[in-house]
Amino acid sequence: MARPIVAVVGRPNVGKSTLFNRITGGRVAIVEDQPGVTRDRLYRHAQWGEREFTLVDTGGLELGGAEDNVFSGGTRLQAEAAIAEADVIVFLVDGRQGLTAGDEAIAELLRRSKKPVFLVPNKVEDFSKPERYMEFYSLGLGEPIPISASHGMNTGDLLDTIVAALPPEDSGDEDPDAIKIAFIGRPNVGKSSLVNAMLGEDRVMVSDIPGTTRDAIDTLFERDGKHYMLIDTAGMRRKGKIDEAVERYSVMRSLRAIDRSDVVLMVIDASQGVTEQDKKIAGYAHEAGKPCVLVLNKWDLVVKDDKTMARFDKKVRSELLFLSYAPTIYVSALTKQRLPKILELVDFVVEQNTRRIATSVINEVMADILRVMPAPSDKGRRLKILFVTQADVRPPTFVFFVNDEKLFHFSFKRHIENRFRQTFGFEGSPIRFIIRQRE
Ligand code: GDP
Ligand code: GDP
Repeated sequence: MARPIVAVVGRPNVGKSTLFNRITGGRVAIVEDQPGVTRDRLYRHAQWGEREFTLVDTGGLELGGAEDNVFSGGTRLQAEAAIAEADVIVFLVDGRQGLTAGDEAIAELLRRSKKPVFLVPNKVEDFSKPERYMEFYSLGLGEPIPISASHGMNTGDLLDTIVAALPPEDSGDEDPDAIKIAFIGRPNVGKSSLVNAMLGEDRVMVSDIPGTTRDAIDTLFERDGKHYMLIDTAGMRRKGKIDEAVERYSVMRSLRAIDRSDVVLMVIDASQGVTEQDKKIAGYAHEAGKPCVLVLNKWDLVVKDDKTMARFDKKVRSELLFLSYAPTIYVSALTKQRLPKILELVDFVVEQNTRRIATSVINEVMADILRVMPAPSDKGRRLKILFVTQADVRPPTFVFFVNDEKLFHFSFKRHIENRFRQTFGFEGSPIRFIIRQRE
């Protein structure tokens, strides 16, 4: 399911990063490289109550000021891109500084967008003086919602308001039986070639169906009686038609594709290796709980001996440590080497991602683990694991009921994860642990 997108826009220094960190807990964000633009865009998963969304910090927008002459092309395009992609826009202004010409220029852009916009004066630490932020009414964007991002004042109410304005969950227009595949990777790694080579082998090509965004096209096909959907293949199948402006949003496209997918195929050019951007996007897939296959393409270009593949495996794994569970496959879209194996792996990791283990079996395995390596203790108090159960799939999620969650250290968690993987598999799939304290 696609997560809705909430964009935070505003001039530099109004407190966008502060608000962003407050909402997402300040964890690492995905940065989009945008050469020539003053600041990078940041993307993060966010959640409020039951609702999940992607939060985008668009970077500082200087419109209408002196800098507009220098940056107008880039910043305006960036602003328009963010606005076009967003479902809801949070327009942050500086409640202490008051209304500026820059705010008016941004408001003008936002009014034209016809998207839900919330006007939010920040740095309002004293709500008893509404005259401080009332002047923002004149922007014609409705009633201002004052907050203090750094003190966390009124930010809960703001989130309630944002979540209420998000589009309803699940459009429901997709083939529910099809396995949804997202091909992810930077330009030129061979995504289009792989998609075309895979589809070329197929007799039955069902249809191209419009995806969630205007320019996304999903491709449905059938193989051995099973349905698959390739997400957002517009750019891949009609190479050349995507212009530079679309290419600019490729991070956003990737994240949306990952959100909607059942499995992520991370395509890497074997002759080039893993990039920083690959790591960040793979990290997003990991966090989203999606199973993943690392597809090393252009294998034909690599000069090989009998140890080459093992050496590559080691290198890729050291660069994508958190994806140690993801299988690798070495292919060539050009020579078609091992292409049929891709769908076999897709089926396999999707199955692993939806595996359920009986509670009795989990607790037996847990007892075995603890016999070999006892639970950690601190100041004479030992961690007791009272009961473990698998609460969910996609990804497999285990709930541990314990006497004291503080004793459940990261290293112990990693140990259990390793042992669970040795015993149960879960190849290609992230797994999650939830620790619950019981008195
Ligand atoms: P950005 O450029 O829009 O991302 O702004 P930042 O988040 O970097 O914040 C700019 C400055 O405003 C920093 O010095 C923040 O500490 C400060 N700031 C942010 N939010 C608040 C707030 O709610 N109250 C006050 N007093 N200062 C804030
Ligand atoms: P995309 O931007 O990720 O969709 O990449 P393309 O599919 O457009 O491929 C980029 C370039 O790499 C093209 O010139 C392809 O012909 C070439 N290419 C793709 N796959 C392979 C491969 O397996 N081997 C070799 N030698 N070249 C490839």
